[in-house]
Amino acid sequence: MTQAAVREMRSTCPYCGVGCGVIIESQGEQITGVRGDPDHPANFGRLCTKGSTLHLTASTPVALQTRLLQPQRRTQRGEVPHAVSWDTALTDAADRFADIIDRHGPDAVGFYISGQLLTEDYYVFNKLAKGLIGTNNVDTNSRLCMSSAVAGYKLTLGADAPPCNYEDIDHAEVIFIAGSNTAYAHPILFRRIEDAKRVNPRLRIIVADPRRTETAEFADLYLPIQPGTDVALFHGMLHVLLWDHLIDPAYIAAHTTGFDALKRRVMDFHPKEVARLCGIETAALMEAAHWFGQSKATLSLYCQGLNQSSSGTAKNAALINLHLATGQIGRPGAGPFSLTGQPNAMGGREVGGLANLLSAHRDLANPEHRAEVARLWGVTDVPATPGKTAVEMFEAAARGEIKALWIACTNPAQSMPDQATVRRALQRCEFVVVQEAFATTATCAYADLLLPATTWGEKDGTVTNSERRISRVRPAVAAPGEARHDWCAVVDFARRLEARLPERLNGRPTLFPYDTPEAIWNEHRESTRGRDLDITGLSYAELERAPQHWPCPEGQAPRARLYEDGRFPTPDGRARFADVAYAPLAEPRDARYPFSLTTGRLRDHWHGMSRTGLLGRLFGHVSEPAVQLHPQDMERRGLKDGDLVHLTSRRGSIVLPAQGSAQVGLAQAFVAMHWGEEFVSGCGSTGERLTGVNALTTPAFCPSSKQPELKHTAVKVLKA
Ligand code: SF4
Repeated sequence: MTQAAVREMRSTCPYCGVGCGVIIESQGEQITGVRGDPDHPANFGRLCTKGSTLHLTASTPVALQTRLLQPQRRTQRGEVPHAVSWDTALTDAADRFADIIDRHGPDAVGFYISGQLLTEDYYVFNKLAKGLIGTNNVDTNSRLCMSSAVAGYKLTLGADAPPCNYEDIDHAEVIFIAGSNTAYAHPILFRRIEDAKRVNPRLRIIVADPRRTETAEFADLYLPIQPGTDVALFHGMLHVLLWDHLIDPAYIAAHTTGFDALKRRVMDFHPKEVARLCGIETAALMEAAHWFGQSKATLSLYCQGLNQSSSGTAKNAALINLHLATGQIGRPGAGPFSLTGQPNAMGGREVGGLANLLSAHRDLANPEHRAEVARLWGVTDVPATPGKTAVEMFEAAARGEIKALWIACTNPAQSMPDQATVRRALQRCEFVVVQEAFATTATCAYADLLLPATTWGEKDGTVTNSERRISRVRPAVAAPGEARHDWCAVVDFARRLEARLPERLNGRPTLFPYDTPEAIWNEHRESTRGRDLDITGLSYAELERAPQHWPCPEGQAPRARLYEDGRFPTPDGRARFADVAYAPLAEPRDARYPFSLTTGRLRDHWHGMSRTGLLGRLFGHVSEPAVQLHPQDMERRGLKDGDLVHLTSRRGSIVLPAQGSAQVGLAQAFVAMHWGEEFVSGCGSTGERLTGVNALTTPAFCPSSKQPELKHTAVKVLKA
C-alpha cells in the first residue's frame, strides 16, 4: 500500500492572542506534525510548549475519542442523548427557538460564544442574533477577557484599537508590565522581551503584580502591589510625574482634553500614602514614575490583572492617562498595549460580537450606527435594548427570563464565575444548544442538543491577534465524522429560522447568502468602510500573501502603529484624559474571609484543558491543582505541602492540596484556572461536583465593561 504524501499548510496557533504562525504537516487525514512558521511576523518560527505540541492533540486516535462526531439530542433531561442527523438537529433547534421567541419575545433567547471562534463564525452569530432574531443577547467569553480593555481604549482614545505592535518591544527603553504574567500567558512575546533585553541591556522592565511571577522575577523593578490597588498606583505615579515636571505639556495641550480635572484628582494621591495603600516602598513608586517619564519610549503591556476587575475600565484608563500625560504614545516603542488573552478576541470585537457593540466598532447605543448596520444587513432595524452581557445572561437564565441558550466553542460550566448560578441557569433553561468540538467539556452535560464542530487544523477563515494583525487560518485535514464548521452550522440554522420569522427578512430571500467563509469576510470587510478599522484594502488573496495589520483602507498600506499624527478617533480629534476614581475591591478580605484569592494561567495549559489536557507531557510542569499560600501562612495554620484544605468563599467551597510558595504574598492565595470537575462524557449527565476554582469566584463586575472580577475573591482556608 502506498503511503499518503506529506502535505504542509500554513495556519495559526489556536491558543493565545500572540497569534503565532504555524506550519501543519499532515498525511492523509491525520495531522502528523507542527512547527513555527518562520515567515509569520508574530513569532518568526518560534512556538511555546502549547503550540509545539498541537499536532499531538489533533486527529490522533486518542484525541478523536474526545471529539464530538455526530449531532446528539435528548428529548428529556436526564435521558441519554442519541445521535440524530444534522437536518433533524437544526430543524428541531429552529422549531424550539421560534416557539420560545413566539411565546416570550426575542430577548428570551441568548447566544454565548467565544474568542476562540474565527471572525467569520463570529460575524454570522452576531447577524443571527441582532439581525434575524432581533435580540442583542449575544455575548462571549471575551467578556471575561478583554472587555475592560475595550472600554478603557474607547473612553480615552476614542476607539477600541490597540495603538502598538510587537516591534515596539524592540524600540522601547522602558517596558511597564502591569497585571500580566507574560512569561506564562504570552510566552513567545516574552521571548521577544528577553531578546530585546539581551540586545539592549539598558532596557528597563518594571512589573506591577501582586504575585511574584516568573515575569516579575525578570523585572529590574518589581512592584508587589496589593490586589486591586492598580488605579491608586497609576494615579500616584502621575502625581510624581507632575511634581517632578516629567509630563509633556506640549503634547497635552495639542492632543488631549480633560487634564485639569484629572490633575486635581491625582494631587490627593501622595506617594507615601499610595505606597502604603499598595503595600510597596515609596522609593519604588517614585522610581517607577521616574523611569516611565524619563524614558524616550515607554511601552506598557497589560492583561487580565487590569481587565478582570470590578474597576477594570478605570484601571485601563488610569494607565493610558500616564501615556497621554507623558506623550508616550504614537511613537516607536511607546504606547499602551493590551495583550489579548484569546486568539481571536480582537476579531470578535471587530464584528461587534458583544452585547453592547455592533459591526465594525459601531455602538449599539448610537441610533445612527444601528441604522447603518440595519441597512448593511438589509433588515428593518437592530433593536436598541442592550443585550445581556456574560454574567447578566446566565443570571437572567437562572431567574427564568432567558429560556434558550446557544453556547458555542466555550465551556461556561467551568469558566464563568459563581458556578452554582451558572449551573442553575443551564438547568432552568428550556433548551440548551452546545456547539462544540470536544464531548468532554462540563457544559456538554447540560445540552439538550449537541452540535459537533470543527477545530484547529480543520477550520478555514481569519483571526486577528493582539497587534491588530489579521492572519488566515487554513484547514490541513477534513472535518472528522459529521463535524461542521461553526459558521456552516449557524447559516444552516439561520436559514431554517428565516422560514419561521419571515417578517425579519424585509423581502429578501435570505440574510445569510454565504457558501464560503470568504463570502462572509467580504461582507464584514465592506461593513468596515470608513470606520477606524477600515479593511477595505484587504482580501483573502492579500492575506494569502502575508498577515496584515488593520486599518488598511482601499488603496492604502496597512497601518502598524496608530496615532502617530497625534489625532484620535474622537469628535474633536483629541484623546481624553479619564478622571477615574480609585475604588476598593468588590469583595475585600475581612475577618471571616481573610485571604485574597487570585486565579491565573500555568505555562503549559490553556483555559479548561479540553485540548492541552489530552497530553501527559503537558502535566510535567504542574501535575495537579493546588492552592498556593505564603510559607508563613502555611506555618501559622500548621500546614505542610500536600495537606488538604477547604478553600471557601461566600459562594462555595472546594478541597485542594496546599502548597507553600513565596510567589504569593501574605494573606493571598493562588489557584490555577485550568481545572474544573472531572470530565463527564456526552450530554445527559449533570454531575454537581463543583471542584474548579470558579465555584468560589465572585460575579461582581466592572460597571462600565461588565467584566467580572475573576482576579479577586475573599476566601478562608481551613485544614480538611
Ligand atoms: Fe500559541 Fe500563544 Fe504559544 Fe504562540 S505564544 S505558540 S500563540 S500559545
